[in-house]
Amino acid sequence: MQLHLQGLTKHYPGVAALDGIDLDIASGELVALLGPSGSGKTTLLRVIAGLLHADQGRVLFDDIDATRLSLRERNVGFVFQHYALFRHMTVAENIAFGLRSRPRARRPDKATINKRVQELLQLVQLPEHGGRYPDQLSGGQKQRIALARALAIDPSVLLLDEPFGALDAKVRVELRRWLRKLHERTGQTTLFVTHDQDEALELADRVVVMRAGKVEQVGTPDQIYNAPATPYVFEFIGRANVLEGRVEQGRFQSGALQLDAADTQDGPARLYVRPHDLVLSEPGSGALPARVRGVLRLGGRVTSELEIAGHTRLLEQETFDAGAAPGLSVGEAVHLRPARYRVFAHAE
Ligand code: ADP
Ligand code: MG
Repeated sequence: MQLHLQGLTKHYPGVAALDGIDLDIASGELVALLGPSGSGKTTLLRVIAGLLHADQGRVLFDDIDATRLSLRERNVGFVFQHYALFRHMTVAENIAFGLRSRPRARRPDKATINKRVQELLQLVQLPEHGGRYPDQLSGGQKQRIALARALAIDPSVLLLDEPFGALDAKVRVELRRWLRKLHERTGQTTLFVTHDQDEALELADRVVVMRAGKVEQVGTPDQIYNAPATPYVFEFIGRANVLEGRVEQGRFQSGALQLDAADTQDGPARLYVRPHDLVLSEPGSGALPARVRGVLRLGGRVTSELEIAGHTRLLEQETFDAGAAPGLSVGEAVHLRPARYRVFAHAE
């Protein structure tokens, strides 16, 4: 099932929760909606599900206009951040719920439902847990059951709203890898909402970065990480050093530093470079003279804080070594070359 979103807007008093969203999702794709809190992710999922009507715009499932269809008619699967399992029902009853509550004409018989429940318990790797109650499950297990319940109805699309958001960090990482494998087996068209960039980049075929009700950038995880289209995306995804300067005739200049910036218009500009893309180098026009102000070691990662003459903000440089390289020491004078960087024009 493909999903097409066209010109969706949703206003609340004083806020545009959705501000003209256009997005096409291919059949079988796993797409992450990534954005900070309040950027409109949940509103968008609710509009797709039919839990909420947009002020303007259309939602199409394949070429069927679903804009006016109800939640039930759309047949979407939904998993929320907070476990929404029915506490008084067993795991098996929870999974069967969507099928049992169908109108009689479309309701499978008991044996078929039981078989489907067993298949789903296998799929989410909890085959022995059908007789338990939700209170007898861990947080991660509850979300796996919530996913099985969402899949039971053979949904047109699967909508997951920060499904691992309430779980601790280690379980989150395990579950997102598990979900990725599960997706490869089911091929279910899936929209996954998260505010966690690692989760989005690791899990998704494509990432949609949202900002204040708008789509800021759509791309593969590689494109989003390595070719952020805007300063907002650069700073939202991973860490960023920012250096003020100017572009003149396709060259970025900041003090003694000069770098190619052929794609950026002349005028005030900012250089964006990730800490691990600042590498030690010989002096030269492509390198920044800097002085080491601090060195922090965390596991195999060494982060150095560097002062650049004429700039108030310290830069961060990062290397990964397991004790092999000597690393920088405080007070040392060094030169740094941005191995990979982006230059964005900005208004004065
Ligand atoms: P996200 O899921 O990305 O955190 P939401 O979609 O929940 O964002 O919210 C987007 C914006 O819309 C926020 O500013 C939020 O306060 C506002 N909003 C969402 N739902 C309502 C509502 N029912 N009434 C008023 N404002 C709302
Ligand atoms: Mg939300």
